Amino acid sequence: MATFLFNEIIFGPVTSRRLGESLGINLLPVDSKYCNFNCLYCECGFTSKSFGENKNALPTSIKVRKALENALRTYQYKNLKIDTITFAGNGEPTLHPEFSTIIDDTIKARNKYYPKAKIAVLSNATLIIKPSIREALRKVEYNILKLDSVNEETLTLINCPLGNFSLPDLLDNLKSFQGNVTIQTLFVRGEYRGKPFDNSTEEEVENWLNFLHIIQPELVMIYTFRRDTPIDTIQKISPQRLQEIALKVKALDIQVSVSA
Ligand code: SF4
Repeated sequence: MATFLFNEIIFGPVTSRRLGESLGINLLPVDSKYCNFNCLYCECGFTSKSFGENKNALPTSIKVRKALENALRTYQYKNLKIDTITFAGNGEPTLHPEFSTIIDDTIKARNKYYPKAKIAVLSNATLIIKPSIREALRKVEYNILKLDSVNEETLTLINCPLGNFSLPDLLDNLKSFQGNVTIQTLFVRGEYRGKPFDNSTEEEVENWLNFLHIIQPELVMIYTFRRDTPIDTIQKISPQRLQEIALKVKALDIQVSVSA
């Protein structure tokens, strides 16, 4: 199925229900996906096994700073609205070796041109084991971290982590944000290479809710996939089931948003 890549460092702004007018920053290569997950629903397609060898294709922090300043200056001159500056794009932004510097530069540029705008990072959370990444994420207003399952087998089937990955470590580090985190969960079922999975079953959702109860995130964003995916053996979860799950999150007194 057809997937797509962002072909610039700065993209948008796009209108988002949660983030408003959101200006995107892609810290990853513009011609290939760069991620240490290989989610079966990824709109960027499958991760190449050699993605880590493509480090030279990552834009330098100087290039990112200049591109962002140019964009913000132009939008400010045109009097355009920007509610959020959002790190997303062709993979996992925290894999960029200068991620912390880029966050500091972005805060400075935001303060200069759009002081009321928020900064959001969409991350798969795998690198929050690093203190420097946790520190950088604590500086942004919307620290949005993926958690598709608290069951290692299910998460491995859906997100297909590449290299070393420890779910217990990830869960421990999520707790360390002390609630200053948004959890983003994509619900999906299907099968891959003969193995079935479904993170929307009662048992899966109960375990996930128990963890949410412990970490008390500011917000939980739940959704299912909308765009083309790399394989066609996965299915969307119905809007009704997403609403049922949302009600269970609300019952914990945690804010929730649903995108069907
Ligand atoms: S974490 Fe995001 S970019 Fe990486 S494979 Fe999953 S959906 Fe794609």
